[in-house]
Amino acid sequence: MTEFTRIGKFKMTWLLDGYYPCTPDFVPGARSEEGRNLYKKAGLPPEGPSKEPFHAFAIEWKDHLWLIDTGCGQEAGPERGKAPEQLRSMGYSPEDVEGIIITHLHKDHTGGLLTSEGKARYPNTRLYIGESEMEFWTGSDVPEGNAGDHEVTKAVLEQYEGRIEVVPDNAVIAPGLRFVPLYGHSPGHNGVMIEDGGQRMLMWADLMHSSILQFHYPHWSVRPDMDPERAVATRLELLERLVEEDTRVAGSHTYGAGLVRRGEIAYELVPTDTDNRH
Ligand SMILES: [Zn+2]
Repeated sequence: MTEFTRIGKFKMTWLLDGYYPCTPDFVPGARSEEGRNLYKKAGLPPEGPSKEPFHAFAIEWKDHLWLIDTGCGQEAGPERGKAPEQLRSMGYSPEDVEGIIITHLHKDHTGGLLTSEGKARYPNTRLYIGESEMEFWTGSDVPEGNAGDHEVTKAVLEQYEGRIEVVPDNAVIAPGLRFVPLYGHSPGHNGVMIEDGGQRMLMWADLMHSSILQFHYPHWSVRPDMDPERAVATRLELLERLVEEDTRVAGSHTYGAGLVRRGEIAYELVPTDTDNRH
């Protein structure tokens, strides 16, 4: 069963790729009284873990099928890499995908572009990647700690050669779909705004990795934030802006959809309805 929602002419479906355990090792700020309280409030042991998702997304409109990101693929063990199965359960095969928007070049978002043989899984698609992100990963400053992401990126660029569109940050990728720069988690990390018929959904990708922790303490970073200070500033600025807006949000590592509102400690997500289909 897959969860979906509509934004004007668009139908957006969550492709649950797998889960990861979120602990204070991953969110160091949570190794604190505040962290222990939040885990306990969620009915969990005081140091977690909380079970957090990896999502890719399918975007359908008219007779078009696009994806936003692709999940982990073979990169994170047999428990993950389920996004293609989810797509199949919707009645599609990888050949049907025409466009894939890549929010950033971390392997839990790009690993799914490759098969277990390291070939292109989506033979007919074009890839849309933001300019800053592309510049960084094809440059000489990729840190040692991101070697795995770098390897997958190189393989993807090779396998999809001739089918990659490098677009300006902020670009309209297709009518109703545009990048929203949210730098910090990676140097060119982008969210995607999906907009039609007066409705808006911001898929904020890796702006946040734990709803139970980071809505309340948005200044807590996660280990994979490549520039933690910038990631925090981006998160604070966006959350504050969204409080005033009717823009729904969804994320790669948060559940469901909702509106950001002021909460008891800082912010909270007020869930909005989604539907399910088999
Ligand atoms: Zn991620």
